[in-house]
Amino acid sequence: MFSNSLIELDRAHLVHPVSSYRSHERMGVRVLKSARGATVTDATGHHLLDGFAGLWCVNVGYGQESIVDAATKQLRELPYATGYFGLGSEPAIRLAAKLAELSPGDLNHIYFTLGGSDAVDSTIRFIRYYYHSKGTPQKDQFISVEYGYHGSSTAGSGLTAIPVFHAGFGAPFHWQHKIPSHYVYRNPVGSNSQAIIDASVGALRAKIAELGAERVAAFYAEPIQGSGGVLVPPVGWLTAMHAVCKEHDILFVADEVITGFGRTGPLFACEEDDVTPDLMTTAKGLTSGYVPLGAVFMSDNVYNTIADGAGKADVGHGYTYSAHPVSAAVGLECLRLYEDGLLDNGRRAGKRLMAGLRSLADHPLVGDVRGRGMLAAVELVTDKARKTPLPPEADLARRIFDRAWNNGLVIRAFANGVLGYAPPLCCTDEEIDGIIERTRRTLDQTL
Ligand code: PLP
Repeated sequence: MFSNSLIELDRAHLVHPVSSYRSHERMGVRVLKSARGATVTDATGHHLLDGFAGLWCVNVGYGQESIVDAATKQLRELPYATGYFGLGSEPAIRLAAKLAELSPGDLNHIYFTLGGSDAVDSTIRFIRYYYHSKGTPQKDQFISVEYGYHGSSTAGSGLTAIPVFHAGFGAPFHWQHKIPSHYVYRNPVGSNSQAIIDASVGALRAKIAELGAERVAAFYAEPIQGSGGVLVPPVGWLTAMHAVCKEHDILFVADEVITGFGRTGPLFACEEDDVTPDLMTTAKGLTSGYVPLGAVFMSDNVYNTIADGAGKADVGHGYTYSAHPVSAAVGLECLRLYEDGLLDNGRRAGKRLMAGLRSLADHPLVGDVRGRGMLAAVELVTDKARKTPLPPEADLARRIFDRAWNNGLVIRAFANGVLGYAPPLCCTDEEIDGIIERTRRTLDQTL
C-alpha cells in the first residue's frame, strides 16, 4: 500500500529526467529503498546487483559509513559557507588542493559546481573569458564529437551530440559544431585503429579549416564516450586530437564526468593517453553520488589569463552552492577511499568484468563487447555478420531493462540495443560474476 500511494504521488507530481513522461505515468515508478555495497533493494524487498552504479556515479559503492560520518560532522560544524565576499571553508580549500595535486599536469585551479552539466556550462563561460582576456574574442566557435554527451544545460546540451537532447528544443546553437565519432564497431573506415585516428584527425582539421582556426575556441571530447553508448576510441586517439588543438591554438577540454575517479582504471582517463587538457570537467565519482558536486579544472595558463584579463574587476561567474562544504567533505572522504584500495579493487574487478562480458561474445545477440576498466558495453544485433541493429521498437530497451531487473540486475539499456555497465569499484568477484550470469540469462530470455 505504501508503495502504491508513492506511485500515485510520483505519477502526479515528480517530473523525471530524460524520460517519456506519458510512458512513465503509465508504467509507474520503481521506488528504491536502500542499498549496501553493490546491491540495491526496492520498496518490495527485491534485491538487485547495481551494474550501473546508479547513473555511473556511485563509484565507492553504497553504505560507506566513513562518508556518512564526514557529511554528518560537516553538517554539524558548518553546513554552508559561501565562496562569495572572499569567504571559504576548510573542506572546499582542502579538496581543491587535493584535486590539483592528483590531476595531470598543471590543472591547478578548481571551480566547483553542483554536477556535470553546470561544469560543462561553466567551461563555456571560462573559455569566453579567456579569449576576451587574450584580446581574441572572435575565437568563439566550439567543436565536439558526434555521440558525445556534455550534459543538458542550455548551452552544454548543444555540445551534446545525441539527437534526443535536441529534439523539441532547437540546440545546437550556431556556434557549436560536430565531427564524426570514432565509433570503432561501426566506423565507415573499418576497425583499424590508425585509420580511425587518421579519420578523426582529418575531420577535426577539416572542421577547423572550414571555420578558420582564428575563430575556433575549443574542442570537447570524452576520453570514452559514455551516454553515446560507451564508445571506446583506439589508444592514441585522445593524444592525436590534443595535438591538432595545440597546433591551432585551440583549447582542449576533456569531459571526465563519467571517466573520472577510477571508472576506467586510473584516477582520470586522460592519464592513460598522457594528455593534459587545458580544462577538465568532472562530477559523479567525485562524491560518488552521495551528495551533488562537480568540478572544473583549469590549467595555469587558462586561470592566469582570465585573472590577468579581469584585473581588479570581478569574473562574473558563480553559484550559491559552489564549493559547498558538505559536498567537499564528502569529496575528500571519497578521494581517501579511492587511494585506500578502491582504485586497485576497481582495476582488478574491471579485468574480471571485461573478461566476463567477452565470454558473452558467443551469444547470438551479441555483436560487440567493448570497454575499459569498470566502464563497458555490449552491443546487441540481430545479424552479427551484417551488424544489424535491433529493430527500433520504442519499448525494446525498456523490455531488456525490465527482464534484467526481474533477474536481479540493474544495467542501462540504451534505445539502440546497447547495454551499458558501470558497476561500483568495490565489487567482489562474486558480484562481477553475478552481473555476467544475470546478463546471459536476460539475453537468453530476449532471443
Ligand atoms: N558530461 C558527461 C560526459 C556526462 O556523462 C554527464 C552526465 O552523464 C554530464 C556531462 C552531465 O552531468 P550531470 O548529469 O551531473 O549534469
